[in-house]
Amino acid sequence: MKSSWVEIDLGALEFNIRQVRQALRAETAIMFVVKDRAYGHGIPSVVKKAASAGVDWFGVAYVHEALEVRQAAPHADILVLGAVEPGDVSCLKENRITPLVLDEAHGRALADAATALGCRLPVHLKIDTGMGRLGVLWEQAPAVFAQLDGLSGLEISGICTHFASVEVRKPSLGCTQMDRFLQAESEIRKMAERKLFRHVSSSRAILYQNEWDLDAVRPGILLYGYGAGEPRMRFKTKPLLQWKTVVMQVKRLPAGFPVGYYSTYVTPAPTVVATIAAGYADGYHRALSNKGVVLIRGRRCPVIGRVSMNWISVDLGPDGDAAAGDEAVLIGEQGESAVWADELARMARTIPYELLTSINPSAERHYINTRIS
Ligand SMILES: *Cc1c(COP(=O)(O)O)cnc(C)c1O
Repeated sequence: MKSSWVEIDLGALEFNIRQVRQALRAETAIMFVVKDRAYGHGIPSVVKKAASAGVDWFGVAYVHEALEVRQAAPHADILVLGAVEPGDVSCLKENRITPLVLDEAHGRALADAATALGCRLPVHLKIDTGMGRLGVLWEQAPAVFAQLDGLSGLEISGICTHFASVEVRKPSLGCTQMDRFLQAESEIRKMAERKLFRHVSSSRAILYQNEWDLDAVRPGILLYGYGAGEPRMRFKTKPLLQWKTVVMQVKRLPAGFPVGYYSTYVTPAPTVVATIAAGYADGYHRALSNKGVVLIRGRRCPVIGRVSMNWISVDLGPDGDAAAGDEAVLIGEQGESAVWADELARMARTIPYELLTSINPSAERHYINTRIS
């Protein structure tokens, strides 16, 4: 019997890119973030489609991901949002991949490697404005820029930061971070006497703050169809990914019958139970035990008992009429019913990012192309 599979609608991706594109000024580029196999959607197909739909930058976490993007989009610009090493420089140069510089020592090491190869490496300087993760603290950024800008091996072509949170209300940490970025930027601009490529906004900031779009925006989750659930947003996008599997067995259980490991669920009345082929090893979070919802024959059926490694049980109700071999939807829609990753994430007390990236990479991915206007 087959295990779970994923269906990805690249037509919905094209629609989403159009929504974001129409909200931006013409001179703002889209840098589509495709870390972790394009958030579980698969880099090659997603990047090819996005490049043909007008995305000209891609953001990744690792050099090996950048190489996968390069295969799929020979002409795109690519930024590595993580840390590269001096040993990566020849590969970066050869494949036109731009890295971030995280601090002065990192910049010098990359510059030395580039000089030894007789080349000049374009880089973006990462500024930490309050995320406490990667980059140079905003107060030190102008001095670090001054130190690195003269090095023959480096060409600082861009500067960027990343928001820890963006709230609709003001003041907020996001607003403070933006003030810090602009303060560092104005000092750097005076020294640089050239135009630097500036980008700060990931999905949440893009949704609320068009004055923060600058030269590029870095949407991830938004282009995969999530994160736009609140008011005051500039547009809405659609999920691309559905995750499906099959019903393995259907049977009637009497009242008082325990279901699953440690009997965390006991049937309150006679009912029909389906066992379906997905579990935590496939990426269906164990936190969804007694909480998740699965679509079978167009109805939302609750997950009962503990999620086990490869199987879960769902309650079809006393008149349940499914049969072995029926399709069961773990994320997606069926008939009039739907269960998307944001709803499931709330049930599992996590975020759609985590659910999407936890779907086992070995699940087959099927790509379709629905025209959405
Ligand atoms: C992951 C990431 C993004 C994309 O974030 P979303 O919330 O998915 O839009 C943007 N920028 C950086 C630096 C990231 O690490």
